[in-house]
Amino acid sequence: MNAIPSPLHRTDVPFYRPVGNECTLFETAYTNGLPLLLKGPTGCGKTRFVEHMAARLGRPLYTVACHDDLSAADLIGRYLLRGGETEWVDGPLTRAVREGAICYLDEVVEARKDVTVVLHPLTDNRRVLPIDRTGELLQAPPEFMLVASYNPGYQNILKRLKPSTRQRFLSIGFTFPDPATETAVVARESGLSDDRVAVLVRLAGRIRTLSGMDLEEGVSTRLLIYAATLIAGGLSVDRALEAAVIEPMTDEPDVQQALRDLIASVY
Ligand code: ADP
Repeated sequence: MNAIPSPLHRTDVPFYRPVGNECTLFETAYTNGLPLLLKGPTGCGKTRFVEHMAARLGRPLYTVACHDDLSAADLIGRYLLRGGETEWVDGPLTRAVREGAICYLDEVVEARKDVTVVLHPLTDNRRVLPIDRTGELLQAPPEFMLVASYNPGYQNILKRLKPSTRQRFLSIGFTFPDPATETAVVARESGLSDDRVAVLVRLAGRIRTLSGMDLEEGVSTRLLIYAATLIAGGLSVDRALEAAVIEPMTDEPDVQQALRDLIASVY
């Protein structure tokens, strides 16, 4: 085990309600210098979980929202022209390694292929980050941790995490929280009462299990929080669900109508 300072006891830790043993797993991965992969649909709490754990462990957090144009240089850094001089500027991954921070690569499969090459030496027992442009080879300190997320639902055949990459990470599968947990989370985040939130959560359960509808994914906890926030702010349930659930989930008029029918059957 690495010599890591014990977690700070802080009061400004973002709220996260555990669903299983994910907090213990994260801490164990951190303590042992192992990278962690969070798999699951959008809006189910992955980012909040990482924010919570980083604060609990007292480490700075660098979050990178990966997209299809994100390259290794965006993560590592580049030479920039400043006042006529070229100056090396660290990217977020390099900064995280230097500072012993947690680096969270959200939706890592979206990034360009050269990112994988950078991650490999960092995610095995070498724990090094080669910076070709400066000739540096950074050894990650024990406090550095790499966390990545991906959404298996989004992937097409071309955008799959290769086994050689995914087998370097410990993995936690995230799904939407159980109804009691989700009710507590949505009530706390929105300020809407538990009993009114419980109806929303029941509706979400119906939407998520609905088959045969052209929905790419079930409604997320994030959208439920939006809906509950609108209702708590005084909007009617119908208008809130239209703006926070129906419109964000689909553009298809017939699927929208099916969702409205479902809502009518729950309310
Ligand atoms: P993801 O990163 O999976 O897309 P987020 O972490 O952004 O999702 O979650 C969306 C919102 O849902 C968060 O802002 C948070 O309010 C809420 N949330 C979901 N699950 C939990 C949980 N277990 N504890 C606390 N908040 C949660």
